[in-house]
Amino acid sequence: MAQTVFRNVAIVDGSGAPPFRGEVLVQGNRIQAISRAAGALSAPSAEEVDGGGATLMPGLVEAHAHPSFADTSTIEALGLIPPEEHTLLAMKNVRVLLDHGFTSLFSAAAAKPRLDVVIRNAINAGDIPGPRMLAASPEMTVTGGLGDVRLHHHHRESFAVIADGADEFRRAARHFVREGVDTLKINPSGDEYVPSARAKHTVMTEAEVAAVCEVARSRGRRVAAHARSAESVKMSLRNGVEVLFHATLSDAEALEMLEAAKDRVFVAPTLGITYTSLFEAKDHGAPPPADVARALEHELKVGCDNMKALRRRGVRVLPGGDYGFTWNPIGRNARDLEHFVELLGYTPMDALVAATALGAQLMMRGDELGQVREGFLADLLLVDGDPSKDVRILQDKGRLLAIMKDGEFHKRPPAARATYAIAAE
Ligand SMILES: [Zn+2]
Repeated sequence: MAQTVFRNVAIVDGSGAPPFRGEVLVQGNRIQAISRAAGALSAPSAEEVDGGGATLMPGLVEAHAHPSFADTSTIEALGLIPPEEHTLLAMKNVRVLLDHGFTSLFSAAAAKPRLDVVIRNAINAGDIPGPRMLAASPEMTVTGGLGDVRLHHHHRESFAVIADGADEFRRAARHFVREGVDTLKINPSGDEYVPSARAKHTVMTEAEVAAVCEVARSRGRRVAAHARSAESVKMSLRNGVEVLFHATLSDAEALEMLEAAKDRVFVAPTLGITYTSLFEAKDHGAPPPADVARALEHELKVGCDNMKALRRRGVRVLPGGDYGFTWNPIGRNARDLEHFVELLGYTPMDALVAATALGAQLMMRGDELGQVREGFLADLLLVDGDPSKDVRILQDKGRLLAIMKDGEFHKRPPAARATYAIAAE
C-alpha cells in the first residue's frame, strides 16, 4: 500500500486543539500514525514530504455547494444551458472546489435533475477529479416560489422543479430518489429576490413538506430546506428536515425547536451570498433593487444574531455560502470562514472546526472524516501559514501547498518539499 509521511509540520487536527508540531504517516487512504516527536515515524518506502513548518490540516467541507451553478447573475440563465454543456461545467466546478482545498461538498441542489448524480458517480469511479460529494435533487418549489422562473405566455426552463400539492411533491421526491440523489432539496420559504415569494413568506404547505420527508424517511435519504422564514424553519423541523439552509429569520420558537433537534440537524446560513449581494453585486453591474437591499440588510443582521444564538445553544452552524453567482463565484468558498470570524465572532480555530470536523458530520462521516486523527480518511491540506490564526490564508489557493484526498495527492507538494525514498534492494 502506498505510504506518504509528512514531517516538520504544524498539525491543526480539526478538533479545536491547539496546533502541535509533529509528523503524519498516511497509508493507503487512511492516516496510519501521528507522532509529536521528530523522526519517530519510520516508513522506509514512504514518499517523504518535508513540510518546512507549514500547517497540515483536514480538507475543507463546503456545506452549501452548487456544483452546477454557472457564476451567472440570474437564476434564469441556468435554464438556458443545454445539458451537455452543463455537465462539462459541473465537472469543471467540482475540480475548482478541490483545487481550492474543499475535499468534501454537500450539494444544496443541482441545476438539472441528474447533474449532481452523474458528477458524484464519476468522482467516485475515479473518472474525474472532485471532492467527496453528496448529490442533491433540483430545488423542489411551488408555483411562484423561488426557482419558478416560468412566464405566463411562453415556455422557459428553470433550475427548479415545480410541484403543487402533496401528491406532486411525493412523485417528484420518489423520482429523484430513483435517479440516485442523496438529498432531497425543498424551498419552503421564498427569497428576497423573488417578488412573489419573499424571504419572510412560507410558500409550501405542511402537507407538501411532510410528503417529501416521508419519502426521504422511507428510503434512508435526507431533506435539505431553503428556509428563511421563521415558519418555514418550524415546518421543516416538525416534519423531519435535517439540513436547514439560511434559517435567518428564525423567531424565538424556531430557535427553541432548532436547539431541541441539535443532535440531528445542521444549519448553514450561507453568509457569502447575502454579504456579497448586499455589498459587492453592484461592482458587477447587478446592484439589488433598493427594496431588496433593505430587506437583505435586515436579514443579514437578524441572521447573524440568530446564528450566534444557535451556536450558544449548541446547534451545529456550518460555513458554506451559495457560491455560484457572478459576484459570489465558485472557488471563493473559503471566504465563508472569514465571514464566520468577522460577522459571527468565531475564533479562526472555531471556524476551522466548523469547516472540517463538523462538516464531516454533515457528510455523515464524522467518525472517519474531517480530522487529522489516526484511522481517519486522509483528506489533508498542507498550508503555507497558520490558518488557525488567520483563516483568510485559505482563500489563496497558492498557499495550499498540497491537497490530498483519500490518500492521493490532487495537488502535489512543491518538489523541494517532497523526496521519493528508494526502497532498499
Ligand atoms: Zn443555494
